[in-house]
Amino acid sequence: MGYGVAKIIYNAHIITMNTQLDIIPNGSILIEDGQIKAITSGVLQASNAELIDAKGMFVMPGFINTHTHAPMSMLKGYADDLPLHAWLSEHIFPAEAKMVTPENVKIATRLALIEMIQSGTTCFNDMYFFENIIAQEAKQAGIRGRFSDSIIDFPTASFKTVDEGFTLCEEFINEWKGDSIIHPSVCVHSPYTCSKTSLQRAKQLADKHNTILHTHLAETQKEVEDIKKQTGLPPAEYLHSIGLLDSNLIAAHCVWLTPHEIELFAATSSSIAHCPKSNLKLASGIAPIDNYINAGITLGIGTDGSASNNTLNMVEEIRFSALLAKVVDHNPEAVNARNVLQMATINGAKALSLDHITGSLEVGKSADLIFIDTHAANMTPIYNEYSALAYTMNSTNIRSSMVNGEWIMKDRIVCHINEEESIEQMQELAARIKKTKS
Ligand SMILES: [Zn+2]
Repeated sequence: MGYGVAKIIYNAHIITMNTQLDIIPNGSILIEDGQIKAITSGVLQASNAELIDAKGMFVMPGFINTHTHAPMSMLKGYADDLPLHAWLSEHIFPAEAKMVTPENVKIATRLALIEMIQSGTTCFNDMYFFENIIAQEAKQAGIRGRFSDSIIDFPTASFKTVDEGFTLCEEFINEWKGDSIIHPSVCVHSPYTCSKTSLQRAKQLADKHNTILHTHLAETQKEVEDIKKQTGLPPAEYLHSIGLLDSNLIAAHCVWLTPHEIELFAATSSSIAHCPKSNLKLASGIAPIDNYINAGITLGIGTDGSASNNTLNMVEEIRFSALLAKVVDHNPEAVNARNVLQMATINGAKALSLDHITGSLEVGKSADLIFIDTHAANMTPIYNEYSALAYTMNSTNIRSSMVNGEWIMKDRIVCHINEEESIEQMQELAARIKKTKS
C-alpha cells in the first residue's frame, strides 16, 4: 500500500557499508515495498519491476546528518564571524523571537530539504521549534529523519513554559510514532540553557517512549567553565552525574571532552554528532575524534544549522571530518577515508538508533540510497572508492536518491519540492528579516 512497483537497480557499483564493508562491482539490488529484498553481483529478475540502469554509478547508502536545525536556513549569513555566545544571545535568539513562525519555518525547511537532498542526505536529526511542521515537510519531501521540539528553559516561539514544551513534545511523539520515515525523538537544548530538572525530565520522556535524547554538549571552553562553576563538574561528567549519559543519548559537538569524559561516553555507549564546520566557524575548537573513535564511541557527522555553517552539505562535512582529524593530531593516518564514510552512513544510523532501518545497503533494510556519477572529470581516475568519496566527490556528482524505495531526487531534480518556488519564497522572507534587523 502506498508503494510503487518493485525496482531493480542493475549495472551498479554497490558500496554496501555493511559490517564487512563489501563492495559489489556490477551488482543489482531488488527493492520491494520500500525494502531491499536482494543484493547481489550480476543480474536479478522480477516481473513488472522498474529497471534502473546504474552504469557508471556508485550506489551507496544516503548520508545521515546527525545534527541540524533545518529552518535556520532563514538565518544563513545573518550574523557571521562572531563567538558562539554573542552570536546566539545578541543575534540568533532575538531574530528567532521575531521571525520563527509556522509559515516561516515551512518556507525555511523546504529550502533546507532541497539543499540536504541535493548533497546526498537521506536522513537527518533535527532539533528546532514547530517541529511538527518540519516533520510534515520532510514527510512530503520523502526524506527520513528524527525530530523533536527543543526543550529550553525560556519561552520560545513554540511554547511559553517548559511544561508546555514537554506536553508538545509528547503529543508529537504520539502523533508520529510508527511512521515509516518520520521518527520522533526528545531534544533538550543544552546543559547551559536547561535546568537539571528539565534535563532529567527529557531523559525520562525519551526512555518512556524508547527513543533517543538529542542535545548540545561541551561545544565551547566557555560552556565548560560555566558548567564547572555551576555544578563543580565539566559538562559531560555533569550529565553523567544526573543520569543522562546512556545508549540513547546523542550529543552534538563534544569538542572539549576530558579523558575521563571520553571513558564515560564509551562505557555508557553514548553517541556524538561531530560538527566540524560549525565548530570551526564559531571557533569552538576541533574535536579530537581520532581519540573518540579509538575509545570505541559511536560518531556520526552533522552540519549543525546553516546559520553557523553556512551549508547543509554532508559532502563538505565528510571531507572536513577527515582533514581536521589529521591536522589536530599532526597525524595523516588519523581518521581515514573509510572511517568518515562509516560515520556519515552506518555509524550515524547507530547514533540515531535507526541502524535496523537504514545506514547500509543490506537485505531487510529500507532502500535509502544515493546514485553517484563517477563518469566525471573530477571523479577520474578512481583507485579506491572511499578515497574518491571522501576526498574528491562534489555534491553535484550525486545524481539521484531514494528513501524507502521512493525517489526523492532524480537527475538532480528534487522530486517533491518546487525548487524555484522555494527560492522565491525565501528571497521574500529574507527581505522581511532584513527589515527587522536594527
Ligand atoms: Zn546545534
